[in-house]
Amino acid sequence: MPETNVFFKGVDSEAIPDLALDYIISMSKPPHLSEYTDQLGIPVVSVSKDALDGYAEEEERKMDDELIQVLERAKERPIGREEALFLFRHTEGDEEAAALFAAARAVRDKVKGRRIRMTGGIASVLRCDLKPNCIYCPYWRELGKDPLSIDEILKAVEYITSHGIRDFHLSGGTTLGSDGADILAIVRAIDKAGFHDVEIDVNCGAAMSLDTLLELKELRVKMVRSVFETLNPKVFARMKPGDSLEAKKRFAQDICDAGIGFGTGILAGLSPQETKYEDYVDFLFQIKGYPRLKSLYVSKFYPFNGILLKDRPACSAREAGRVVAVARLVLPEIDIGGAQGWWATKGGPTSLEAGGGNSALGIHIDRTPGYIDTEKAAREEGFEYRDGMEFRNTIAQVEQYYKEQGMEIYY
Ligand code: SF4
Repeated sequence: MPETNVFFKGVDSEAIPDLALDYIISMSKPPHLSEYTDQLGIPVVSVSKDALDGYAEEEERKMDDELIQVLERAKERPIGREEALFLFRHTEGDEEAAALFAAARAVRDKVKGRRIRMTGGIASVLRCDLKPNCIYCPYWRELGKDPLSIDEILKAVEYITSHGIRDFHLSGGTTLGSDGADILAIVRAIDKAGFHDVEIDVNCGAAMSLDTLLELKELRVKMVRSVFETLNPKVFARMKPGDSLEAKKRFAQDICDAGIGFGTGILAGLSPQETKYEDYVDFLFQIKGYPRLKSLYVSKFYPFNGILLKDRPACSAREAGRVVAVARLVLPEIDIGGAQGWWATKGGPTSLEAGGGNSALGIHIDRTPGYIDTEKAAREEGFEYRDGMEFRNTIAQVEQYYKEQGMEIYY
């Protein structure tokens, strides 16, 4: 057996995975032994002349105390990077996760109140021209799918506003290098049609000129999203081979420079196990640097039929919930919500239970997918299909759910 007594003294822990070790034997009694095991993904054991009796219990108790302290501090002020990393690593268990969610809800209630705004969404307003598509993307996998026309978008706005909703998003695909003239034409048409009492969020791709952004602001666009999904450059390149992280970062800065609210999104479950917690934490602290950050949505990876990444396991609801909760403790002031993928798996917390809020989607309108049985969907899931469009109106269910949770809904 080689001598390894320099292991905890002289070896950079980040270099340990490259050594491809089967296990690690420490000749001392290091604190947080199980933390090393979690971090490195290999057994870490301690051989010490000190008695190891009670070591596990002592370590567990220290962890509990530390977790409680971090969560108590989180209720008083935003947490730092090390605290965020600590929370991800020490809330995998049922009780620990429940304590994290409770702290995040307390912060949400204190900072944002218990009010939820009912919103709507219109999807597929622009085609996605990325080649190739993102390998997790379920949206543009259907050959021949057309985006909604401006007339169809106006019908959708009419439907949403006729149900009392004034706040809605327009989402579509990416054209790298676009000046944004296409989305500007849509928003101008909404304005020209007389929908002045509305607030619009735009979530389309990675590019728009500053002039376009300034005109959108004049036209009551309150937020534009540049959705990174991940800020780990290697993971981004692998998952979004047709997209540009640098373009998305420049776009995010342009949105802030234009004085519009900046929104983004993260896709939980994209990173490899070894780096996922560091990646989540890096993401949260990088977006914290954007001065006009207003909203983060957390999607949950799910292997939808037809996507290239279909063999990857779904991200658990608990993991996505922990991303929501830690995000709330890092960024107490912003709106945080669940997005794509949450409904696809059962169990685990809802984003509200994990400390998310303060908006809810009551109506969603999209192009009718060509691959579904519309009669069955309309019967079983409450969809309505007409004129090539899919209308999903869940206002009643959403209102009931939030009221049961003691939240006040407003429009
Ligand atoms: S940019 Fe969006 S719509 Fe386009 S391929 Fe990627 S995930 Fe899909």
